[in-house]
Amino acid sequence: MQFSERILKLAAEAEAALAPRFAEVDRIAFENTQTVMDAFREHRVAATNFDSTSGYGYDDRGREVLDEIWAEVMGAESAIVRQQIVNGTQALTIGLFGILRPGDIMLSVAGKPYDTLEEVIGLCGNPGDGSLRDFGVDYDQVELTADGKFDFATIEEKLRTYAGRVKMVFVQRSKGYLNRKTLSVAEIGELVTFVKGISPDSYVVVDNCYGEFVETSEPTAVGADLIIGSLIKNPGGGMAETGGYLAGTKRAVELASYRLTSVGCGGEVGATMGQNKPMYKGLFYAPHTVAQAIKTAHLAAYIFEKLGYPVEPSWNEERHDIIQTVITGSPEALCAFCRGIQSGSPVDSHVTPEPWAMPGYTDPVIMAAGAFTQGSSIELSADGPLRPPYTAYFQGGLTYESGRIAIMAAADAMAKLEK
Ligand SMILES: *Cc1c(COP(=O)(O)O)cnc(C)c1O
Repeated sequence: MQFSERILKLAAEAEAALAPRFAEVDRIAFENTQTVMDAFREHRVAATNFDSTSGYGYDDRGREVLDEIWAEVMGAESAIVRQQIVNGTQALTIGLFGILRPGDIMLSVAGKPYDTLEEVIGLCGNPGDGSLRDFGVDYDQVELTADGKFDFATIEEKLRTYAGRVKMVFVQRSKGYLNRKTLSVAEIGELVTFVKGISPDSYVVVDNCYGEFVETSEPTAVGADLIIGSLIKNPGGGMAETGGYLAGTKRAVELASYRLTSVGCGGEVGATMGQNKPMYKGLFYAPHTVAQAIKTAHLAAYIFEKLGYPVEPSWNEERHDIIQTVITGSPEALCAFCRGIQSGSPVDSHVTPEPWAMPGYTDPVIMAAGAFTQGSSIELSADGPLRPPYTAYFQGGLTYESGRIAIMAAADAMAKLEK
């Protein structure tokens, strides 16, 4: 690959400026690795835990130990980690349907949830398809304030007005496809305390996608009842081939497990079919892999900021998830960005991404993904819905070095467009 002189210089300048940030990212990765390895040691992870089961998967010791260490690492009482869960949306669906009952209210307090949840909740899609709304579950939301904080006054008012009907307070930790700030674990902790003070029986449920291992604790450690995520994002470390997880209080995880399989069977069944090893290996790698992705995001922020594009977070800002947004300003620039990333990927570098209607998304989306695992976004990937201001959402990078290559390719592709 050939890079322009300008971009080579800019990348070197970025690394010099980012040295203190990178040191902090390494410190967090070290602390999280210690947490993971302590859990492995405490629960005596052994080679026999990687044995495969089929059929019902009764007495799958590897599955049980993985659930236990996952709970421990997340600061939770219990967890279910399963290769049967196809993506983050399904994991979230399991959590929502597991807890909510007819007549309950789901109150989203960080604004609109992730695009793919709109059909699950029943905010769009066909009546009768089986959304929460079809089952008599109501939904309401509270926007974040203009500076991206929880609107405690409005949350309190809703909790009081609905008088005990709010079974679930729902928080999306990461910005997802929204131009807003990502919430920190400390902020979510404050919210949990606040909600429990007014409505102690409400479950606080966190969409934890893209947040795992970015800080040294997870929302469950500060009182969230349930956190939910995908194994082809952060906590799979780029090693898990597929899967999702739910971690939280014993009761919340039990309810979710009844929805995952059936009431009664819960988490005690489920064949692992050879997937235990990549899931264990993924958890082992996750703190390190997440650090690689965060360094790549810092570098991207620096480079695109200097090239004059609005970015969020800014290059020198502390991170709460692995997502970097770059406001490209036009459909052409968004496509050039994604095509540059694709050309700098290890797999399918020769293909040209095109905008496409995606199931579950309302606008056409362009995606760059040259990943070993299909759809994996802890691996280098970029995407953006084709709507103003044409924001590119960039995340991942299994290695910082390969991430750096792709960022430079994207910057060069956009520079060509200017000419
Ligand atoms: C990725 C993501 C999801 C759902 O993910 P899929 O795995 O694509 O189904 C949900 N919420 C957030 C914030 C996400 O980033």
